[in-house]
Amino acid sequence: MNFPVWKGRSIRWVLLDRDGVINQDSPDYVRSVDQWQPIAGSLEAMARLYRSGCQLLVVTNQSGIGRGYYPRRELFAMHRKLASLLAAGDSAGVAQIEGVLFCPHLPDAGCDCRKPAAGLLHQAMSCFHFSTDQAVMVGDSARDIQAANGAGIEAVRVGEAGDFPSLSDWVDGFLKPQQRQ
Ligand SMILES: [Mg+2]
Ligand SMILES: [Zn+2]
Repeated sequence: MNFPVWKGRSIRWVLLDRDGVINQDSPDYVRSVDQWQPIAGSLEAMARLYRSGCQLLVVTNQSGIGRGYYPRRELFAMHRKLASLLAAGDSAGVAQIEGVLFCPHLPDAGCDCRKPAAGLLHQAMSCFHFSTDQAVMVGDSARDIQAANGAGIEAVRVGEAGDFPSLSDWVDGFLKPQQRQ
């Protein structure tokens, strides 16, 4: 398998922030399966990444659990919704995520996993056995970038304040060299 080459490196793992990258974020938190709505083009972009050989992980802060806004079972149901939409596929084909790593803690809990801390990224590398040079992180907030960089992983910011409007726009450029073959 030829993995996508990006900045001179072969990328096997794409780590995705969830809210604001895959699904629409809400200032009032995404609290239920019904409120979990994909951003246009994001699932298709994940399918394109998956077809390119990349493995996908979701790395997400979910302090709404610590705040009591929604229970873990609702979070897991949101991720089953994501998985089933990816499995159903669309014009770009199907996709699968290898896992979801989340921080359920409150900001003042002092944990090492809430981004901008790098704990979730370290967890990802030790659970799934990859190194910093095989991965890229895509997030929509400064703390995503900080978390990735803290773990030694290069990151790309998408969204309103990002370098690309959306995940889909970044994937266009990321996969372009492969498509020229
Ligand atoms: Mg986000
Ligand atoms: Zn945490």
